[in-house]
Amino acid sequence: MFKNKKFILLAVSLAIIIPLEVLSLFSIHLSLWIEAPITAVLLFIFGWEVFKNGIKSLFKLNFSNINLLMTIAVLGALYLRQFEEAVVIVVLFALAEALEEFGISKSKKALEELVSKTPKTVLLKGMKEKTPIEKVNIGDIMEIRPGDIIPLDGEIVSGGSMVDEATITGEPIPKTKQISDLVYAGTQNMDGYLEARVTKLTKDTTISKIIELTAKAAQHKSNSQQFIEKFASKYTPLVIIIAFLVVVIPVLFFNQPFAHWFAQALTLLVIACPCALVISTPIAIFSAVGNANKQGVLIKGGKFLEELGKIKAIAFDKTRTLTKGEVVVSEIIPFNGYTKEEVLACAAGLESFSEHPLAKGIMKKAEELNVKFKNASSFKAVAGSGVTGFCTICSKETCLGNVQFVSKEHAIENKIREAVERLEKQGKTALILGNKDHIEGIISIEDEIRSESKSLIDYLKRINIIPVILTGDNKSTAGYVGEKLGIEKVEAALLPEDKAGKIEYLKKEFGLVAMVGDGVNDAPALAGATVGIAMGSVGSDAAIENADIAIMDDKIGKIPYLIGLGRNVNKTVKFNVTLAVLTKLVFIILAIVGMSNLAFAIFADVGISVIVILNSLRLLNFSNINRVP
Ligand code: ADP
Ligand code: MG
Repeated sequence: MFKNKKFILLAVSLAIIIPLEVLSLFSIHLSLWIEAPITAVLLFIFGWEVFKNGIKSLFKLNFSNINLLMTIAVLGALYLRQFEEAVVIVVLFALAEALEEFGISKSKKALEELVSKTPKTVLLKGMKEKTPIEKVNIGDIMEIRPGDIIPLDGEIVSGGSMVDEATITGEPIPKTKQISDLVYAGTQNMDGYLEARVTKLTKDTTISKIIELTAKAAQHKSNSQQFIEKFASKYTPLVIIIAFLVVVIPVLFFNQPFAHWFAQALTLLVIACPCALVISTPIAIFSAVGNANKQGVLIKGGKFLEELGKIKAIAFDKTRTLTKGEVVVSEIIPFNGYTKEEVLACAAGLESFSEHPLAKGIMKKAEELNVKFKNASSFKAVAGSGVTGFCTICSKETCLGNVQFVSKEHAIENKIREAVERLEKQGKTALILGNKDHIEGIISIEDEIRSESKSLIDYLKRINIIPVILTGDNKSTAGYVGEKLGIEKVEAALLPEDKAGKIEYLKKEFGLVAMVGDGVNDAPALAGATVGIAMGSVGSDAAIENADIAIMDDKIGKIPYLIGLGRNVNKTVKFNVTLAVLTKLVFIILAIVGMSNLAFAIFADVGISVIVILNSLRLLNFSNINRVP
């Protein structure tokens, strides 16, 4: 922080002015020949912007601008010959602004560094020269040497290595990567040689997503920042009116000397400068957001951390959020004369167009069993239901999906319904493949629950946050997962818009509700929730765009840490604001009754500002993963 020129200047200025202010506290002043030039120089350096804005808003008759209050206060202090105080006010205000800027520029700088380090060219397999990343197509094979920064997102097709992903996940320990694992642009290959198939164009890579998200973060003001701005817009005119009355009432109605009460009013204006209050929130928010960034969590605005600290219920998507989403086909039951292979070939052909985790499981099974995908055409995906397309095995329009979806178009015999029920009771997802004449078969799919899900849910219940499952999967499978995890509220068979509807309903019941999800089908719910949390790396673009927070390494176990961080932010901000406002109030009242000492009041403001800054910076070190304060 102190490498920054502005901060050095501020630190030097504070080092000069604070001793003078302390002396002034004991009514000791240096000769005017020393104080006046120091005052003039510092006021010019740090006050110029404030005076310009203050005078501008005076001409516009906009009395709610805090710069105006600052300007009047400084002029008042100069008139009262309180040079030290005039400078202290201006330097503190400059410090507050510099800290706020510093917070923003720091996260921007880290990103810019990341972008500049990520290579702009790729070595494609079989090519002698490197290709610019804009010219690379999805499916191209890139060669990645040991020590290279990976230029684009891709899936490993040959080789194995350790990859350092700290830049995007915050995880300091390099990960072992093998064939079929994903690698991300901006991360560093350590020791092995890799060949990877490009999966995303440069504008869609995970790192581009991060940059976009961070840019958005600056637009969302935190709730407490908004509060302080609103407060300032009432506070400034109020103080000006009170100061005016402090002169008018005694002079006009009580025949008191003007000079004395004019000095009192100016004293009041100087005392009223809310430096500590202005400082109180931004540093807290930026420290916390910075802390989260280091843990590989992106936050689109301080507001969402504040709200997460107050959350009453959290809704979870099931597939790939509570479960691993690495689905495995456990059983294929053919009907009506079809063979297992035909059912799998047709299903894999249809799913080859889908991005759903279930689709990946089906294709993987077909590849394992060396079953050739049957070409499908006119493919359509219905989010949260299934897929349809024209299959070349039966030469008919075919659907693959859950019972509700398939039964809309096709009759389902009882024996098939019974088989589906049996599988679902075991926690499996049963998909039906069928055309308009008959059902071809059932594909049963298993999806393991993530190891961290159980302790996460236990933890939430301990701190009285209600966990809820919102899933597009069927009741029995969802119920099975709910029972395993100890979640009582389970809502199943939901279409994407139903998920959003349930969120509205939960908001009515609990007030503040978070939603955690990964898929396109979760996007409306993520957008509707008080705080939407998306899985950053497996998550679909729609999910990440609609969410407010993205966990880059998909570890839902980080949620307790985030809630803890949010609660800490709220506590810190509350403490800071209360302390700053109360101190101001005491000195203002003392000033109105004519008992305040200007030097002392300003000194108190400096002290409070320091406390508030130190209190906020603590958030940089917050790390209690499992303890919520
Ligand atoms: P979740 O809410 O658990 O993430 P989704 O809403 O994505 O699940 O899907 C709900 C259900 O819709 C799935 O359990 C499955 O039965 C069906 N489904 C969705 N997409 C597909 C697909 N591509 N292939 C087959 N079935 C699908
Ligand atoms: Mg999902």
